[in-house]
Amino acid sequence: MTLHQNLIAGEWVGTDGIENINPSNTNEVVGLYARASADDAKTAIAAAKAAFPSWSRSGILERHSILKKTADEILARKDELGKLLAREEGKTLPEAIGETIRAAQIFDYFAGECLRLAGEVLPSVRPNIGVEITREPIGVIGIITPWNFPIAIPAWKIAPALCYGNTVVFKPAELVPGCSWAIADILHRAGLPKGVLNLVMGKGSVVGQAMLDSPDLAAITFTGSTGTGKRVAASSIEHNRKFQLEMGGKNPMVVLDDADLTVAVEAAANSGFFSTGQRCTASSRLIVTEGIHDKFVAALTEKLKGLVVDDPLKAGTHIGPVVDAGQLKQDTDYIAIGQSEGAKLAFGGETISRDNPGFYLQPTLFTEATNQMRISREEIFGPVASVIRVKDYEEALSVANDTPFGLSAGIATTSLKHATHFKRNSEAGMVMVNLPTAGVDFHVPFGGRKASSFGSREQGKYAAEFFTVVKTAYTLA
Ligand code: NDP
Repeated sequence: MTLHQNLIAGEWVGTDGIENINPSNTNEVVGLYARASADDAKTAIAAAKAAFPSWSRSGILERHSILKKTADEILARKDELGKLLAREEGKTLPEAIGETIRAAQIFDYFAGECLRLAGEVLPSVRPNIGVEITREPIGVIGIITPWNFPIAIPAWKIAPALCYGNTVVFKPAELVPGCSWAIADILHRAGLPKGVLNLVMGKGSVVGQAMLDSPDLAAITFTGSTGTGKRVAASSIEHNRKFQLEMGGKNPMVVLDDADLTVAVEAAANSGFFSTGQRCTASSRLIVTEGIHDKFVAALTEKLKGLVVDDPLKAGTHIGPVVDAGQLKQDTDYIAIGQSEGAKLAFGGETISRDNPGFYLQPTLFTEATNQMRISREEIFGPVASVIRVKDYEEALSVANDTPFGLSAGIATTSLKHATHFKRNSEAGMVMVNLPTAGVDFHVPFGGRKASSFGSREQGKYAAEFFTVVKTAYTLA
């Protein structure tokens, strides 16, 4: 089997490989991927540092052209890359192809941003002096990504980093190296100079830790668990570097008595269970007012009965497997915790067998949950959601905001008054009205509040805030 190597200083290197296993068929090896060492990470950081002076002064047309070529190739290969994504991560083929198209759109967007770099020219408050405000690249960016969006999250960190003239050391999640390798390969062939993007696949505790320990990274952008995020933060403060964290969520979806039941059920089913619930924006707390509670639970349960859990490549599958044995254990442990806490298991809760051995779990719905239960406070990251019954809108809003997290929040209502009030008073970074809490655009800011995020927003033009540093220059006329 071909070994997919790491890309360091423009060379493909590495001999030691690890198998990328398909979670929907654990007998199937998706590919063999090199495992970098801590020394490889140091070499990659040195290469990115050496490449920075030249790349940071490269012409905007060169950057535009490389990002555009990358976007075009990803789009042209959407079916093949989508299939790779579905095989390594487990989301259904339509979702995986959709995510691949999203990655192409992100590269395309930032190809355009290269040509729209701008500053400001202002008069000084002092006579005969001019003031210019410009954005400059910051240096070597460390990019550490999770397994749940194997192509979109790398794209939304790599594309702006390169667009604004930074060089990159990129460590993808060890579970899903395939799409990341493909992105590095495409960028390399698109003409990216040596050392501008370095790919170091391997263990977080080895490769990721070596990145955290390096004094030569000017910034780290991270998406993943709260625990690792805290390590990124502590090490970044020690090394005086910029950092940006996107971590978990415990996203509420409020359903009011006046909601359109079909809209509410579709939104809850989509954001609670699609992508196997493995989205930081998944709705895991369904906060439902008394008047619609029973109808909503009955309709959502009926909907869940019709969802097909199977191989993601099979036509008709709605939900693929959980990503690996560790995540499956976390999900089933939380299902047991929910039952022991007194929540009622209204649907699902069991692992299931399919034609091939994989990590299949039924979509699972709890009712009679309270907001104080662990299943309502801690991120499960699986196809598990809980219904919390509340009296009215005011209680629903208060329960929605009563969480350590604040990434995304939704409301299903036909009341303009309540929708408007919720948009203003939700303590989340993103608010959805009559839409799933998951599913966002690529040209607008993405991010949360409280324990969900730290630092400036990702995506769209707001990405410039993290990937550049502002300079103010004064000139005597
Ligand atoms: P992690 O935080 O462990 O992984 C995220 C990334 O960090 C991976 O690339 C990982 O590498 C890397 N990493 C791990 N340890 C270190 C370290 N010491 N130094 C630097 N980098 C490191 O999350 P998991 O993948 O283990 O998922 C655990 C939980 O996190 C999930 O169950 C879920 O609750 C949450 N999560 C949230 C996500 C979100 O989008 N908000 C996404 C994914 C997970 P490696 O792959 O080798 O572990």
